[in-house]
Parts: sequence; structure tokens; C-alpha cells
Amino acid sequence: MDTHRKVIIIGSGPAGLTAAIYTARAQLDPLVIAGIQAGGQLMLTSEVGNYPGFPKDILGPDLMQLMREQAVRFGTMILDTDVTAVDFTKRPLKVIVNGGDVYTAETVIVATGATAKWLELPSEQRLRGKGVSSCATCDAFFFKGKDVAVVGGGDTAMEDAIFLTKFANHVTVLVRGRELRASKIMADRARANQKIALRFSATVTEVLGESSVNGVRIKDSIPGADREETLPVQGLFVAIGHTPNTEIFRGQLELEPKAGYLVVKDQTRTSVDGVFACGDVQDFRYRQAVTAAGSGCMAALDAEAYLHRLSGT
Ligand code: NDP
Repeated sequence: MDTHRKVIIIGSGPAGLTAAIYTARAQLDPLVIAGIQAGGQLMLTSEVGNYPGFPKDILGPDLMQLMREQAVRFGTMILDTDVTAVDFTKRPLKVIVNGGDVYTAETVIVATGATAKWLELPSEQRLRGKGVSSCATCDAFFFKGKDVAVVGGGDTAMEDAIFLTKFANHVTVLVRGRELRASKIMADRARANQKIALRFSATVTEVLGESSVNGVRIKDSIPGADREETLPVQGLFVAIGHTPNTEIFRGQLELEPKAGYLVVKDQTRTSVDGVFACGDVQDFRYRQAVTAAGSGCMAALDAEAYLHRLSGT
């Protein structure tokens, strides 16, 4: 395989694969470095009901498989490995993958997405997959008739809590502050749901249980208050936001200082000429599969225009 490419795409969620479809159709022979956990966050969801063109819902992993097949049909080459380092300080742009192989490119499209945040409690990590989850749409089904808790006060927490009521007996939403961050419509929906109780100033200090969750310890978040109690639940859903997957770009591309998202100008241009970004790695606002796909298309068209300029045609 040619290790020098016109386009390398890092990431294989909706953004990366849409960029691949467009650059492949433009006959730019893209190489997608898909990551060991290829497919992005949709691989962790069940039914996707808001992706246009699928009136009957589609499973997240099935949608990603279809996008992958479409990209391959137009000539995309896909490597299911991780990128471990990049060197964008000189041309050609350098991408190093797990195992040390080096690929070079005229343009790179970064579509590495974002990852759900955890509370970082040892007990939470120990009980992941045994009652602790960050994906209500994937795991709610396992909590039929049970009592569960959701941590977080944003739209994701509200959405997860509402979704969980389809299965669970009761859902307690644990909000660390005194107010919700969620939009009014989502907050109102959660408040109106008889199966949901909102608890404010509640910090989770420990997830209880040996082989499966049987409760959470919660502490009053108000400074000075040291009231702690145990909430008996069989499941804990962590919905406290996301971290962009930008660690390998630190020192290479400009990152937004607060949360580390990639900074883009003119929609998809990063701080390095010829490097474009799309999807959740640069978008903390919309974070939808369809907006990620849309920005993947934009990055592909921008990369194509850049290559035209480079070749002087
Ligand atoms: P947000 O950043 O909006 O909210 C995160 C929530 O988790 C906040 O309540 C925050 O508390 C809390 N939190 C953060 N860290 C911790 C912690 N360590 N312990 C306890 N609580 C913590 O993230 P979301 O994922 O909810 O939403 C992200 C974006 O996606 C938003 O723009 C949202 O509108 C959008 N979205 C829209 C949806 C829709 O419209 N249907 C559905 C889902 C998401 P605090 O407020 O105290 O910082």
C-alpha cells in the first residue's frame, strides 16, 4: 500500500466516513485510519431515530456499517488501527500509527470525535458494565422494572432519564449543583414525568455493590454540609458531558483552552494549513450524527479545494 496519500482521514464515525465518501468520489484515494474502536459513538447506541432517510429507525452499529461500505465502494482504504502521534510541523504531514508505521499526506482530515466523561471513582470503574453505564440508549433495556439513578443536569441527563423511564420503575436524577443546565424543554419534560425525581446538590461519592450495583452513596454538595446517604438503585447512568479526543494533537494544532476541542476557522480549517477538522472533535454544541456527517462533507470539499490550489490547477 502507498504510504504517501493525498488525503488521510483520522477517525471513522459519521464525520470521518462522510469525508471518506466525498474524497473517494473526488478520486483522491483517501486512507481512513479508523481507530481500534472503529465507528465512533454510534457504535454504543441502539436505535437511531433522527438520522434522515431511516423512517423506521436503524441501529447505530448498522448505520456505521452502511457508511463504511459506502466509503469502501468508492475506493476508500480503511486501517482499523489507532494513530499514536502526528507531526504537522513540516510537509508532508506525518501520521504515525500503532506499531510505528508512518504515513504521509498532503492533507489530513481530523475526525476523532469525543468520549463520554466518567466520574472517575474507583467503584464506578470497577462496576462499569455491571450496572454502571454511560449509554442509556444501549443499556436501558437491562433495567426493566428496576430503580436507577442518572448523574448530570444537562440535556443528555434529561434525555437519558426520560428514555430510562420506558424500562425502569423509577429514575432519580442526581444534579451536583442547585440548578439544571438542560434546556427548558428537556427540563420540563423530565419534571413532568411521574417516574423521575430530581435531586439537587447531590454528589456521588461511591457506587455500591460487589458483582453488580445495589446503591450509590451521595453527599450533599453544599460546602460545609457533610450529610451522606445511600440511595438503593440497581443502575447508575453517568451523563456528565464529553471530552474531545484531541490528546495526540496537543502541541500540533490549536486547541480551545477550556475543554480542549480543536479550534477551527472558516468552518473546517485548523491552525495548520492542509489540516481540516470535522465532527464532535471540534463541535461541543450540536454533537449529532447528522451534523457530524455534514461537517465531514464540508471538510472533504475544503480539502479538495486546498489540493487544487496546491497543484495550481
Ligand atoms: P453538559 O455539559 O451540557 O452538562 C453536563 C452536566 O453534567 C452538567 O449538569 C454538569 O454540572 C454535570 N457534571 C459535569 N461534571 C460532573 C461531575 N464530575 N459530577 C457530577 N456532575 C457533573 O453536557 P450534556 O452532555 O448534557 O450536553 C452537551 C451538549 O449537547 C449541550 O449543548 C446539550 O444541549 C446538547 N444535547 C442536546 C440534546 C437534545 O437537544 N435532545 C440531547 C443531549 C445533548 P454543572 O452544571 O454543575 O457543571
